[in-house]
Amino acid sequence: MIEFKDLSLVYPNGTQGLKNVNVKINEGEFVVIVGLSGAGKSTFIRSINRLVTPTHGELLVDDTNILKYKGKDLRKLRTKVGMIFQNYNLVKRSTVMKNVISGRLGHTGTMKSIMNMYSKEDMALAYESLKRVNIEEKLYSRADQLSGGQQQRVSIARVLTQQPSVVLADEPVASLDPPTSHQVMKYLQKINREDNITTIVNLHFIDMAMEYADRIIGMRSGEIVFDGPASEVNEQT
Ligand code: ADP
Ligand code: ADP
Repeated sequence: MIEFKDLSLVYPNGTQGLKNVNVKINEGEFVVIVGLSGAGKSTFIRSINRLVTPTHGELLVDDTNILKYKGKDLRKLRTKVGMIFQNYNLVKRSTVMKNVISGRLGHTGTMKSIMNMYSKEDMALAYESLKRVNIEEKLYSRADQLSGGQQQRVSIARVLTQQPSVVLADEPVASLDPPTSHQVMKYLQKINREDNITTIVNLHFIDMAMEYADRIIGMRSGEIVFDGPASEVNEQT
């Protein structure tokens, strides 16, 4: 479970990214955060794996406040809480396999990965993950030879090899055309359902949010202004 307790984040220049946010997200939920640009969606998501650090309040992940984490605790947190980005963040000149296996090994710069020292288990898990997003045939392609949608599927496979309990996706479909966006959202929904992975996704478009979310959180100026099932979203939000 993830719990924000009176959580605020003030950036060094004084901008308030989050303002006294109180919210609980349960295991296995599929939550979509919506709001205009600058509403605080990205700050909300990035707080959960500490890509940004809230300045007041508490943020509990599985009953532990993560705000003071550093070093090893932070690395463990980021293994448990996987992240998917708008621009895929793949190592462009590396193969799909190498990118995906890096989810399991930490990052592509580890000595194991530089030396191609992958265990059979690492390889098998990476291959299984690629199969789950139907892109296993691209195993040996270079990441930058794939389309945007394919690259985002590879980044989902990479997150799967971490065997996370939470997946955060920061505008995962903002660079994709509508059909490809739906395809990526369907894969996110599939892994949420199959593995009971708590999934929190930022989206620009409310219609897309209504189609996939169990629960929608609406943000404005760093605050939560709506929290409920898609069926309760009305035109005002
Ligand atoms: P969203 O994801 O909804 O577009 P953000 O969380 O990115 O919103 O931003 C929330 C607010 O915090 C905005 O006013 C934005 O300009 C500001 N902000 C985001 N990142 C920083 C930063 N590193 N330094 C200062 N202000 C920031
Ligand atoms: P997004 O909304 O997609 O996260 P932005 O363009 O808002 O992207 O932010 C891009 C980068 O700039 C992020 O690292 C963010 O933290 C930082 N940033 C955003 N707004 C500000 C700001 N007002 N001052 C300083 N950095 C900012």
